[in-house]
Amino acid sequence: MEQFYMPVRIVSGQDCLKKNCGLFASFGRRALVVTGKSSARNGALEDIEYAFNMNGQAYDLYDAVPPNPTVQCVEEGARLARERGAEFIVAVGGGSPMDAAKAIAMAARQQVEGSIFSHAIGEDVLPMVHIPTTAGTGSEVTPYAIITNDEKQTKTSISAPSLFPKLAFLDGKYMANLPQSVTVNTALDAVSHAVEGMLSVRAGVISDALARESLRLLLGQYEALRTGKYTIEARQALLHGSALAGMVIANTGTSPVHGMGYSLTYYHGVPHGRANGLLLPAFLKKCEQKIPARMEEIYAALGMDGAEFSYKVALLLGAREAYTDKLLRAYAQKASLNKNIKNCRAFFDEEDLYEVLKGSVGG
Ligand code: NAP
Ligand code: FE
Repeated sequence: MEQFYMPVRIVSGQDCLKKNCGLFASFGRRALVVTGKSSARNGALEDIEYAFNMNGQAYDLYDAVPPNPTVQCVEEGARLARERGAEFIVAVGGGSPMDAAKAIAMAARQQVEGSIFSHAIGEDVLPMVHIPTTAGTGSEVTPYAIITNDEKQTKTSISAPSLFPKLAFLDGKYMANLPQSVTVNTALDAVSHAVEGMLSVRAGVISDALARESLRLLLGQYEALRTGKYTIEARQALLHGSALAGMVIANTGTSPVHGMGYSLTYYHGVPHGRANGLLLPAFLKKCEQKIPARMEEIYAALGMDGAEFSYKVALLLGAREAYTDKLLRAYAQKASLNKNIKNCRAFFDEEDLYEVLKGSVGG
């Protein structure tokens, strides 16, 4: 049985926000904008302000979301939303502000007793408009918010259908000055989502179709990613590829690649997409033994075999991080407890995970 759900209205193309600002006129009279620092420089905040002015809507700004959002920023943002009477949220930025915004939209309306990670998320969530300014996480089309969990020393995903944004605007122009490292890392995150979605036990005809098209769009920009030279069309293709991959994982979930990557991010600050890029080729190599027929389909979707994929990803990653055996054993153990182990068509025990880590970031 296959299930697929995608409730987000998506508007894309150059100046799509300015041309369609009326679309969120009915969301309320006052918004909270949740963002980091770059939206003030890349033109996105300016377009949002234009839209609010056109609609006669008021807004407050919460621009203190750090990369890898924290519980503290969620609490601060939710407090501000409540104090200022925000009726909806506009999230603008990379995955970090987009994820924080979802948790803020929830915590602004629901009494969270204890930790947000154990809170049963209800239906009452402020409506959200998401505007990605990186092309990777697909958060604008997922019901997930990934928040740093210091108690468990990892990153934990909170998830509920009510965390889907209502509306998303995809405009590649905001990424004109996105640093090359962020562009590459986020593109690898999106590639990872599409591939991991195909590895999921929940993959089906619809998610596979989206994953294949996502990979076509993303890998079609490989030369741009390698050389760092992007046209606006390349930026838009990456953004569309990322959104399609987001639709995939919104329905399939991710795989142990994400599970292992969280330790590299939590303990060593490796950017999320880079962590996935480091781990994915070795993970796929192991899948070749475990699920050969499915791997043939995945390599066909990638348009190359495992060796070429590994080589091409390595060119994008440059010099690799390396960690001691002791650390990698600990990360393998941690990843073996993650719920996405059961989500993968190939079973990976702790030893398998260690071997993938060792082959990817071994000292
Ligand atoms: P990010 O942490 O949101 O952004 C990375 C850096 O790029 C930040 O310094 C950011 O600055 C800057 N930046 C963003 N847009 C820019 C632009 N247009 N121009 C110049 N600089 C820009 O990174 P991300 O990779 O997009 O998101 C990673 C997060 O998403 C992780 O926490 C990850 O776990 C999560 N994630 C979520 C999902 C999901 O389904 N919800 C899926 C995968 C990953 P400012 O922030 O200061 O603006
Ligand atoms: Fe991801």
